[in-house]
Amino acid sequence: MNLYRLVYSSQASLELSPENLQEISTVSQKNNQLDGITGLLCYSDLMFLQILEGEHQQVSKTYHRIVGDKRHHTPILIECVPIKNRLFEIWSMQTISLSDLADSQMSTLILKYSGSPKFKPNGMSPCQCLNFMQEVANIYQLSDTLAIDF
Ligand code: FAD
Repeated sequence: MNLYRLVYSSQASLELSPENLQEISTVSQKNNQLDGITGLLCYSDLMFLQILEGEHQQVSKTYHRIVGDKRHHTPILIECVPIKNRLFEIWSMQTISLSDLADSQMSTLILKYSGSPKFKPNGMSPCQCLNFMQEVANIYQLSDTLAIDF
């Protein structure tokens, strides 16, 4: 199977409430499970950073559907590369609002991988995005209290 990873960032059209994010999360998980897509969606400061993993054509089809969604705009394709294995195989799509994670921990992490403490994923390299998302996933998994209760 031709396994690919696609990473992109985009800007939210409006500030999204937890309910709005939940709606995106529910639909994403349902569709992605059927399509064999896994990944992570981070949201903060009106910015999205998403990773999609799966079979090449499914990743492409999903990405094109997502970028047509009016809830966000100005998508920047950060990378789309063949991979040996998935990194987020346990999640059909985990949505994490960074502002719900511990402030100090998150701003330190953002600063670790970018030029400013504000979340600006379109200024991050593919490698920085990937490492950042893996650390966010670890923080999320390690602490029950950090989990967003959808
Ligand atoms: P339908 O449900 O038939 O909707 C038709 C159109 O309306 C689509 O263009 C849809 O994008 C748009 N739409 C649907 N609901 C709303 C709403 N509440 N407000 C405004 N417009 C709306 N989907 C996935 O399957 N997998 C993902 O990983 C995924 N990630 C996403 C990440 C982000 C940042 C966003 C904003 C959306 C994401 N979605 C994801 C949702 C995706 O864009 C589609 O809405 C969804 O896949 C349903 O597609 P559809 O063609 O069946 O649309």
